[in-house]
Amino acid sequence: MPTYPDWIWHNGTIKPWADATTHVMAHALHYGSSVFEGIRAYETSSGGQGTGTAIFRLTDHIRRLFGSARIYEIDIPYSPEDIEAACAEVLRRNGLVRGYLRPVAFRGLGGFGLSAETPTDVAVAAWAMGTYLGAGALEDGIDACVSSWQRVAPNTIPAGAKAAGNYLSGQLIAREARRLGFGEGIALASTGLLSEGAGENLFLAIDGALHTPPASAALLNGITRDTIKTLARDAGIPVVERDLPREYLYLCDEVFMCGTAAEITPIRSVDGHQVGQGKAGPLTRRLQALFFGLFDGTTPDRHGWLERIDG
Ligand code: PMP
Repeated sequence: MPTYPDWIWHNGTIKPWADATTHVMAHALHYGSSVFEGIRAYETSSGGQGTGTAIFRLTDHIRRLFGSARIYEIDIPYSPEDIEAACAEVLRRNGLVRGYLRPVAFRGLGGFGLSAETPTDVAVAAWAMGTYLGAGALEDGIDACVSSWQRVAPNTIPAGAKAAGNYLSGQLIAREARRLGFGEGIALASTGLLSEGAGENLFLAIDGALHTPPASAALLNGITRDTIKTLARDAGIPVVERDLPREYLYLCDEVFMCGTAAEITPIRSVDGHQVGQGKAGPLTRRLQALFFGLFDGTTPDRHGWLERIDG
């Protein structure tokens, strides 16, 4: 059993964790009508960027939350600023100087039809979170496999919405990978080309440049993916968004996955084929240093990504 934090924000108020309940007949529970975000707060230090807790790209995450809600016509009865304030408050109330934030908005109890006009429940939880893909994953990398499950086709379910229903696909991919002894699964799009990990975007290093599948490859347009593209371009590292066939995973110099939870996780093998030297390669290390440098002040926060909660 995990240990739960004391407080949670639910429908406008901070309340004890155990009190944030919903009805078993809530629409979202039956039909997946829920949108959410995953956000990290980091403890930052020095470098002229200030110290204390910063929520990483909070505004961008909350904009994506409202975008996901718009796609599904889920009406969030709060402003983006209300949800941002709730994120800060729930960290503070739980005494968390770093951690993971989970805003969620879902169709609650109010009708059983697919297109029922239900009230929207909104919650923001925060908890302590370490490395997502296992101890040592950031340093040593993980072994990944290409999933036998494909990502949704573009005209079926929009991969660009961060909606609960999409994570049925993610669960199939992640659970199959773990069952077969791999650290994470990589999905192909319905085109047969590379898409993304179960809950992470994908980068390949080829001859000193970073290559990543385009938004058309049925993927979530990750905020970490965007951060990496920007940090790389700022550092003069070429970034190419392009269609990538599966075999490039075996031929390229480096592969890494990225996401809010996974941060930047090196992939040391795919389907049992060693990638590069079978450990985190130089470009992966460089991007990790630039990314984590944002929090210890060694990378300047040129784009205003560190959103402080403590004044
Ligand atoms: N793809 C999927 C399917 C995800 O669930 C996530 C995690 N939110 C990502 C990519 C990475 O997105 P982000 O960097 O915004 O966390």
